[in-house]
Amino acid sequence: IEFVRAAQLQGDEDPSSVPPPSAQAQQKESIQAVRRSLPVFPFREELLTAIANHQVLIIEGETGSGKTTQIPQYLFEEGYTKKGMKIACTQPRRVAAMSVAARVAREMGVKLGNEVGYSIRFEDCTSERTVLRYMTDGMLLREFLSEPDLASYSVVMVDEAHERTLHTDILFGLIKDVARFRPELKVLVASATLDTARFSTFFDDAPVFRIPGRRFPVDIFYTKAPEADYLEACVVSVLQIHVTQPPGDILVFLTGQEEIEAACEMLQDRCRRLGSKIRELLVLPIYANLPSDMQARIFQPTPPGARKVVVATNIAETSLTIEGIIYVLDPGFCKQKSYNPRTGMESLTVTPCSKASANQRAGRAGRVAAGKCFRLYTAWAYQHELEETTVPEIQRTSLGNVVLLLKSLGIHDLMHFDFLDPPPYETLLLALEQLYALGALNHLGELTTSGRKMAELPVDPMLSKMILASEKYSCSEEILTVAAMLSVNNSIFYRPKDKVVHADNARVNFFLPGGDHLVLLNVYTQWAESGYSSQWCYENFVQFRSMRRARDVREQLEGLLERVEVGLTSCQGDYIRVRKAITSGYFYHTARLTRSGYRTVKQQQTVFIHPNSSLFEQQPRWLLYHELVLTTKEFMRQVLEIESSWLLEVAPHYYKAKELEDPHAKKMPKKVGKTREELG
Ligand code: ADP
Ligand code: MG
Repeated sequence: IEFVRAAQLQGDEDPSSVPPPSAQAQQKESIQAVRRSLPVFPFREELLTAIANHQVLIIEGETGSGKTTQIPQYLFEEGYTKKGMKIACTQPRRVAAMSVAARVAREMGVKLGNEVGYSIRFEDCTSERTVLRYMTDGMLLREFLSEPDLASYSVVMVDEAHERTLHTDILFGLIKDVARFRPELKVLVASATLDTARFSTFFDDAPVFRIPGRRFPVDIFYTKAPEADYLEACVVSVLQIHVTQPPGDILVFLTGQEEIEAACEMLQDRCRRLGSKIRELLVLPIYANLPSDMQARIFQPTPPGARKVVVATNIAETSLTIEGIIYVLDPGFCKQKSYNPRTGMESLTVTPCSKASANQRAGRAGRVAAGKCFRLYTAWAYQHELEETTVPEIQRTSLGNVVLLLKSLGIHDLMHFDFLDPPPYETLLLALEQLYALGALNHLGELTTSGRKMAELPVDPMLSKMILASEKYSCSEEILTVAAMLSVNNSIFYRPKDKVVHADNARVNFFLPGGDHLVLLNVYTQWAESGYSSQWCYENFVQFRSMRRARDVREQLEGLLERVEVGLTSCQGDYIRVRKAITSGYFYHTARLTRSGYRTVKQQQTVFIHPNSSLFEQQPRWLLYHELVLTTKEFMRQVLEIESSWLLEVAPHYYKAKELEDPHAKKMPKKVGKTREELG
C-alpha cells in the first residue's frame, strides 16, 4: 500500500530534546516516579487551589496527561474523602472504568475493591471502604435514584466529557441542579482538548483549568487511492510498518470485537507464515468484552527486540493511554448509533469517523517521541468526506431509558430540562409515547406504579416490561434467563475457522420451534444442567465467558425481582407463556411477512431476518425482533415467532384489530375477538 505524507500534527516538544524512554527504563522506574513524570503533576497544587476556590471547574488536558488516574488521587490525598465521603469519577466506557480503577489501585498500593473500586452495570467491584469510585456515566445516573442529592459524594468528576455520551449529557443537567443546593459539592468536568468553552458556558461560566500538552510532532500519511477492503489493508500496512519502520509500537483503530478478532487472527497467521524472516510481533486486542486479564496485557512493556501492535476500538482514542505507541494506523471508521424518530428505528452502523476523532487518533502516536499516523484514506476524503465533529449521542439515539429515569427522579417537564444540546423534539415525543404504550406513563405523562418498577431494573424499558409481564404468565424463571442471555447478546456461539461445520451443527442442535429467544433459553438451561461446565461449553461451541456473564446478570436480576414484586415461577415447558411475556415487552418491534418480504407492522419498513437466526429458513408470518442492525440491509436480530392475536392481548391500546388483519388469508374470520380466543 502506498502512502503519501501530507501533513503534520504540531507538537509541543522538540523531538530531538528528549530521547524516547526505553521500555526497560520505564519498568525499572518506580510507580511514584511515573506519577511524578505526568504532565499534570507540576500543576498539582495549583489545581487543588482552583478546586478549593471554585465549585465547578472544567479541566482540559491532552490525553495521557494524568487527568483520570491522578486527579482523584490528589483529592484523596488532600482529604476530600474524610468522614466517609466519596469521590466519583465517571467514564463513558466499561473497559475504561475497570482498567483505570485497577491502575489507580496499584498506584495506591491497595486491593481493587477496597479503597479504590469500580462499578459498571451488572458488575460492582466496590465495598463499604471504597472512597474512589470509578464508574460508568450510566451508573452514576442510576445513583440519583437512590440518592437524589448525591449526599455521600464530596466530589463528582465527569470525565471524558468531550465524548458527549447520552448519559454524560444527562448527568450535566442533573449535576448542575444538585450543585445549586449543595454548595460544598465539588464538580469537575474533565475533557480532552475539545469543546471546553461550551462546558464552561453551560456551567455558568465556570473557569477552565488547562494542563499544558506534551506531545511530539506526528507526521500524517494518506493513501494515494481509496482502499476497498480496509481490514485487509490494515493487516498489510501493519506488516509493512513492522518490516520497514524503526522500533516503536503500533496502534490500530477498528470498529468492534468481530473485526478486531478477525484482524488479529489474520496478523498472527501471516506472522507465523513469515516465521523467522521478521522480528517478533505481539498482536494484542482490546475491546469492551475482553476479559480483564487480557486487557491488562496491552499495558505490559514490549520485550526488547519485539514490536507490539494493539488492535483497539475507539476506547484507545482518549480513554486509555498505552505507553510506547509511535505508529497509528487509522482506517477512519467507527461504529455509531443512529436513530430515526419517525420510524423509531435504532441502528448501529460502521460510519466514517469525524475529523476531530481522526486527529485524536493521530495524536496517540506522539506521546513518547515523534510519531507517524497512517490513514487508510485519501487526503481528499479527509477534507471532503469527514464531518468536523461527532454529533452528540443524545441527538442520535432513542430516549426511552433516560426519559423513564428522569420521570422517576420527578422531572416532569422534559422539554425544559437543562440540556447541553437538546435532543430532537420528535425523539422525546416518541419516547413518551412508547413509555405510555408500555404502561410506564399514564395519559398525563405521569409515572405509573408499573413505570416505577420498570425504572428499578437496570435494563431497557422493553426488557423490564418483559420481566414484569412474566408475573402474569408465571414464567419469571425462563424470562430472567432470556433477559440475561439477551444482555450478553451476539457473543454466545463461536465459530472457529477450521471447525465451521461442527460449530454450525452444534448451534442448530439448540434450535427450538418458536425462535431465537427460546434457543437462548435452551442453551442456558442445558448449560445449567451440565453444572455450569466449561467443558460443556467447549464441546458445544458456546463461549464460556459469555455464559458466565449471563449467569451473573441473571443472578442480579433475580435479586431485584422482589423489589418489583414478581415471584419466581416456571412455565414448566409451556413456551407459549414465555413467548407471550416477551411479546408484552416487545410488541413495538413486530414485523409481518408480506408478498414483498417482511415489513414492520406500524411503520411499514422493509426488514430482513438475520441469516444467523433459527427462523431464517422458516419465515413465519408474524414475528418480533430484539433489535435491528443495519449492515448491508436492515437485519432483525434475535427474532421470535408470534401470533397476531397476542398483540391484541398484550397491547390492546396500541394495536387495532384491523391493522392486524392479514390481506393474504382470505378466510380470516371477521370477528378478531373470537380468533383471539381460538388461538390463545
Ligand atoms: P488522561 O486521563 O489525562 O488521559 P490517564 O490518567 O488516563 O490520562 O493516564 C496517565 C498515565 O497513566 C498514562 O501515561 C498511562 O500510560 C498511564 N496508565 C493509565 N492506565 C494504565 C494502566 N492500566 N497500566 C499502565 N499505565 C497506565
Ligand atoms: Mg482520561
